[in-house]
Amino acid sequence: MSEPNSQERIAVVLPDGSELAVDADATVEDCAYEIGPGLGSDTVAGKLDGDLVAKEQPVYDGAELEIITDGSEESLEVMRHSAAHCLAQAVERHYDDVDLAIGPPTDEGFYYDFDNLDIDEEDLAELEAEMEEIIDADYEIEREEVSIEEAEERLDGEPYKLELLSEFAEENDTVTFYSQGEWEDLCAGPHVDSTGEIGAVKLLEIAGAYWRGNEENTMQTRVYGTAFEDESDLEDFLERKREAEKRDHRRIGNEMDLFSIQDVTGPGLPLYHPAGKTVLSELEGFVRDLNEEAGYDYVETPHVFKTDLWHRSGHYENYQDDMFIFDVGDDEFGLKPMNCPGHAAIFQDHSWSYRDLPIRYAENGKVYRKEQRGELSGLSRVWAFTIDDGHLFIRPDQIRQEVEEIMDMITDVLETFDLEYEMALATRPEKSVGSDEIWEKAESQLENVLEAHGHEYEVEEGDGAFYGPKIDFAFEDAIGRSWDGPTVQLDFNMPKRFDLNYVGEDNEEHRPVMIHRALYGSYERFFMMLIEHYEGRFPLWLAPEQVRVLPISDDNLGYAHRVANEFDDFRVEVDDRDSTLERKIRAAHDDRVPYQIIVGDNEEEDGNISVRDRFEDQEYDVEIEEFRSHLEAERDEQRTEPDFLQ
Ligand SMILES: [Zn+2]
Ligand SMILES: [Zn+2]
Repeated sequence: MSEPNSQERIAVVLPDGSELAVDADATVEDCAYEIGPGLGSDTVAGKLDGDLVAKEQPVYDGAELEIITDGSEESLEVMRHSAAHCLAQAVERHYDDVDLAIGPPTDEGFYYDFDNLDIDEEDLAELEAEMEEIIDADYEIEREEVSIEEAEERLDGEPYKLELLSEFAEENDTVTFYSQGEWEDLCAGPHVDSTGEIGAVKLLEIAGAYWRGNEENTMQTRVYGTAFEDESDLEDFLERKREAEKRDHRRIGNEMDLFSIQDVTGPGLPLYHPAGKTVLSELEGFVRDLNEEAGYDYVETPHVFKTDLWHRSGHYENYQDDMFIFDVGDDEFGLKPMNCPGHAAIFQDHSWSYRDLPIRYAENGKVYRKEQRGELSGLSRVWAFTIDDGHLFIRPDQIRQEVEEIMDMITDVLETFDLEYEMALATRPEKSVGSDEIWEKAESQLENVLEAHGHEYEVEEGDGAFYGPKIDFAFEDAIGRSWDGPTVQLDFNMPKRFDLNYVGEDNEEHRPVMIHRALYGSYERFFMMLIEHYEGRFPLWLAPEQVRVLPISDDNLGYAHRVANEFDDFRVEVDDRDSTLERKIRAAHDDRVPYQIIVGDNEEEDGNISVRDRFEDQEYDVEIEEFRSHLEAERDEQRTEPDFLQ
């Protein structure tokens, strides 16, 4: 029995699983002081059941509490959010009648969206200087909880903030404001204690952004920036950013004439120029060899289907907002967002015995997905892209063997491009289709494959799709950026929706398991990643132009063409422009051609060549035959032959 007047007590759960008893009105900060005074004074914010909250936030009984202190990833996020506030304060000091929208932290920094702000990149330095003054002034950042009515008064004339407020008001009686100096913002926080705690800031760029990401809304001005604990962290970040920009696939794609995306042909619809298509064809050929070796049959399906198919596959219900749908006469059609239903329809058009399985279909299938226009970017986010798609229809007892083979194909691909990779197994989520038996069987077979593979992997419990478990690959490029890679996805649902069957040994009808797999994923994204990974300096087998012959003068043109003919099983060009050798060398270098053959009077007299590589090493008196064997060896070594069946 509790004594009269005694405070009611509650308990929160700490990261190590222990419980901490505190007063019922305790805040995150109170809990931290309860654990220890040092921790209390270091507290920046808290995480309550995974949500980042202000340290002033009261806790509740049973909550999982994590204390956020300086130096953690979350504290950087808090500091960046405060930096976004400084940006907005600086903007309002310099420009009149600006309407504030939102200003959150991001993975790499922060942004703030403004309406009625007319600035360009040259104005950023001035704003940055103002932000630094605000930081130097070390204003206290104060959190204040106010009623909805009072918030409405304070936000008079701020249409976007009022719109947000009216949404908060549906579920809350109060909201919080954060103020610093003369400036305040409607904001849930959390923030650092004073502007002086914000480290090194940098404004990066200006972009247009639709209010709430919706194309029908106003286009606002988004200012991007970043903030780090100190100058040296900021410098490291800017260096990595410069490196990434140097490798930007849009710039290199333009310089090497690989592809274009034009207003007249439409957003997110890439056009591959001859040089780009050459690289793509090599990539296609490489997986074609792997697929044929592994017993896949190529199929081809059209770009458009009647929406009846998408109703049957379930894409219509779940995916229609992202689909291009249109009427033809009385029928409705849609561009295909996935290749799987077409392949399921091909499988269904036969009767199969257990002995026929596995059936493996492959297609370089073009798909169309209607991403928001504002999200489209180069080849990384597009409306039209091609998947090196494959679908297998197998018996449940064949899962292990088939997945093992697919994994070997994927690792062959990743190793060919020198990409370090990691793997993860995503298991059954709470909501799922398919029997316990099939899930258990499938997951244990996938685990067996992963174990046998001898590569470390993570298990992401409950992260599988509702229709089956999967193995995800992630890889790292030359500058340490990580990318989502290929997946091997088991599917118990689509065979059911398409009523796919085979006749078993027992003469009964059985349901096959479907596997979706891609080795690259989307060609567009993989191509983009390769351009940046290699900085356009593709390995010999992929290079759009592999060898360029440079005659020293026009007198050597005839010999140059005769030499080029000796390399006709390579992609070779002769630079026959009327220009100096230095310029020709420079041009070949800029075009990222792996090898230059230089021929002048000496070479012509001796019937040999000089060879220059892209590291600017040059060798004289090289025999043509010798160089050709060198090229062949290099090409064959880079483009690994399928060896996974050995
Ligand atoms: Zn804020
Ligand atoms: Zn599929």
